[in-house]
Amino acid sequence: MADDLTSEPVLIADENLVTFGDGGVEGRPAGVPSSYAEGKSPRWTREVIADIHAKSQLGRYQLRGFSTFQKNLPSFDELVFQPATMTRLPLEGYRERCETRTVLGDGLGLVENPVELDIPIYIASMSFGALSANAKAALGRGAKKAGTMTCTGEGGMLEEERAENRTLLYQLSPARYMIDLDHIRRADAVEIVVGQGAKPGTGGLLLGMKVSERVARMRNLPQGVDQRSTSRHPDFLGADDMTIKIEELREATDHKVPVFVKMGATRPYYDTAVAAKTGADVIVVDGLEGGTGASPELLLDNTGVPTLAAIPAARRALDDTGMSGKVKLVAAGGIRSGVDVAKALALGADCVMIGSAAMISLGCNSPRYVEDYTAIGTEPGACHHCHTGRCPVGVATQDEVLSSRVDVEAASERVYRFLTAMTMEATLLAKACGKSSVHNLEPEDLRALTLEASAFTGISLVGADRPFTW
Ligand code: SF4
Repeated sequence: MADDLTSEPVLIADENLVTFGDGGVEGRPAGVPSSYAEGKSPRWTREVIADIHAKSQLGRYQLRGFSTFQKNLPSFDELVFQPATMTRLPLEGYRERCETRTVLGDGLGLVENPVELDIPIYIASMSFGALSANAKAALGRGAKKAGTMTCTGEGGMLEEERAENRTLLYQLSPARYMIDLDHIRRADAVEIVVGQGAKPGTGGLLLGMKVSERVARMRNLPQGVDQRSTSRHPDFLGADDMTIKIEELREATDHKVPVFVKMGATRPYYDTAVAAKTGADVIVVDGLEGGTGASPELLLDNTGVPTLAAIPAARRALDDTGMSGKVKLVAAGGIRSGVDVAKALALGADCVMIGSAAMISLGCNSPRYVEDYTAIGTEPGACHHCHTGRCPVGVATQDEVLSSRVDVEAASERVYRFLTAMTMEATLLAKACGKSSVHNLEPEDLRALTLEASAFTGISLVGADRPFTW
């Protein structure tokens, strides 16, 4: 048998022989599987290796859109409802009503016109710039038909979205893009953004390929240049400054409309308690699963608190500060269905905000224009390429040809039907639990399937009928 000393020296492979494809290396027995060939290391997975190859070429972190790919998140799927049986009476599904009307901004008694929605769901802040004008118009029309609202996002108010919406929330971002007093006064509510769930602690990001002439004009910034929003408000050094800003907005709007404060979930208990003290009418807590048009990938996957854990913490903060009922709580971040809506309400939210799900109902990831998905290296159902500006279905782009693929009437109808379906799902569960209003759903209606979900939410563990604690 040959040994190391007597056998022929092994040729050292050069760049031409060592390729990034497995199996072509000189000296390796062909066709013999090995752990290397299988790529089965639990640490150096195919994703990790691909990430290192990408960064080795880019020389920077990777950017992308959509939402987190983090696999280890607690999910709403780890909770189940416990419908009424002997100790409670269910409602008759087809004959008894379940209220879905949702009022935001009425609690402090400071506002002349609180926001009144027919359903406990509204559409999240997605800016013109991130989305096309047709997508914004379709969201507005669909939301109006469903009796709910959308939000401008940080790019300023589009005339077509004002025209299409019944109720429009105007967003005041740290970047102060297109802050217009007239627009603020034409809105039905105003939102101060402190952060967002997809990338808390940082500002918005709009890459140059989406900064069209119109987007640039609205944001008063150069066309075709990446826009990185500031990560904090230039005039906020603390909660006292927020209180002053809220007072200014109340004066600017003649105390007519509510003021929302939106933040990414990081320390939801303390942040909610502070936000409630600043005088906001509504607090929006956006969990880690929140979507975005563009973000450093590492932030999407490694920052924030999952929505499931953030809602109970925020509710506890309002309870502990005596602000429950006075300040309303909106939950957001990865809400996919009416089932998730019902679970969020049962955990303590007063209302729910959806972004990615609304975008998908518009047509995002739908199996059309497949060749255009292929051209950007993806496929329908797996696309997360909003940051490229080359959205195959026209939702997240400023390209005129691509944008025209959103048929406003048809897309708005899909949004309306999706919102209707979500509401039906939520009321079906509420009725089964014996509730005449979706707002009567409560933690007692839920049980947790896993120790983690029980510990995070305080929901009783299924079978044990008490919450798991360490
Ligand atoms: S289809 Fe468009 S909106 Fe959807 S993930 Fe891809 S680029 Fe974004």
